[in-house]
Amino acid sequence: MIYLDNNATTKVDERVLDAMMPYFKEEYANPSSMYNFSKKASNALKEARGVLKDFLNAKDEKEIIFTSCGSESANTAIKGVLNYNKSKKHIITTKVEHPCVLNLYQTLEKQGYKVDYIGVNSNGDLDLEQLEAAITPDTALVSVMWANNETGVIFPIKKISEIIKSKSPDTKFFVDAVQAAGKIPLDVQGNGIDLLGISGHKFHAPKGVGALYINSKTLITPLIVGGHQERGKRAGTENVPYIVGMSKAAELATDGLKYELTEVKRLRDKLEKNILKNIYNSRLNTGVSNRVPNTTNIGFEYVEGELILLHMSDLGICASSGSACTSGSLEPSHVLRAMNVPFTAIHGSIRFSLSRFTTEKEIDYVCEKMPEIIEKITAISPYQEELAALKAHK
Ligand code: PLP
Repeated sequence: MIYLDNNATTKVDERVLDAMMPYFKEEYANPSSMYNFSKKASNALKEARGVLKDFLNAKDEKEIIFTSCGSESANTAIKGVLNYNKSKKHIITTKVEHPCVLNLYQTLEKQGYKVDYIGVNSNGDLDLEQLEAAITPDTALVSVMWANNETGVIFPIKKISEIIKSKSPDTKFFVDAVQAAGKIPLDVQGNGIDLLGISGHKFHAPKGVGALYINSKTLITPLIVGGHQERGKRAGTENVPYIVGMSKAAELATDGLKYELTEVKRLRDKLEKNILKNIYNSRLNTGVSNRVPNTTNIGFEYVEGELILLHMSDLGICASSGSACTSGSLEPSHVLRAMNVPFTAIHGSIRFSLSRFTTEKEIDYVCEKMPEIIEKITAISPYQEELAALKAHK
């Protein structure tokens, strides 16, 4: 099996699993209890908060709260800011956010909020002029992803925060960094971020744990109300083993960042160049630069993405389709539509996402097999004339 779908989820690192095990087996105490037995669990929680503080370059570990996933982090941040200050009713986001953010904004629109969705160009880069023009003193929140899950395109977070603070200093800035964590350095202070969410399972921790940074100047109304855990910002007994796992994964991600930015990138580039060179009806759906190092999104013209995935799956290769068909909708990807990817390629777009566990041998195998797969599928495409014209052009 060759796993090139690491933006969907990642393999749990053995070292992460090892770090978690004692907190299932021996140190299972509730970290909020008073007796000595809970000391190890509460210390582990404190230590993990310190690691996450460093991972995000927060000022204080009190600014980190633990959640169950990236979606919860985003919902806590967004609803938390809006519910704390109900007088402001304007939100700015982008057309290419993850559904956990976009679906929430659609709900908020029905509740009377005005939401501006900023567009991107054909490379996937954000229209900063449109963003700047949209900000008013009534803007409660600007909410932007750091890296896109489908294309890997990185948004200029520092520039965006400068624009926000110069036009409306009271506007809060939430960054969905779920796809950036472990792939590029994260620095909340250096980038002027008020709130930022991450999810453990995207960087080799298990599914079911996330974190939210809330800077000390930003006040929220909690999403989950109950006990006093997480300084009253997120009720519920902390999931100590998973939090320990995510903290170990964050340490490993920091140590492995250089490898990610050089070796993982080299393998991604090798795969991409091979496909673009050897398959005449392929196109890169983004620009070459300004992307996280592990992701490439490639369109295959006049063929169906799902068919490509099935052929790949038969050979043990896992990747993901640019369209949302697999999630039960026949609509092509909202991200690729926002980028105006031509309709001839949008249905045949595939996202390959690598990790530190991807090997050269695996990439060589995929480079060898992709032309064979695409040739088989183009042979039965009803668009033979168009394909011939494309071939003649290359
Ligand atoms: N934000 C982005 C950019 C994502 O890619 C994802 C998951 O794919 C999420 C948020 C949601 O994370 P989770 O699955 O942990 O809720």
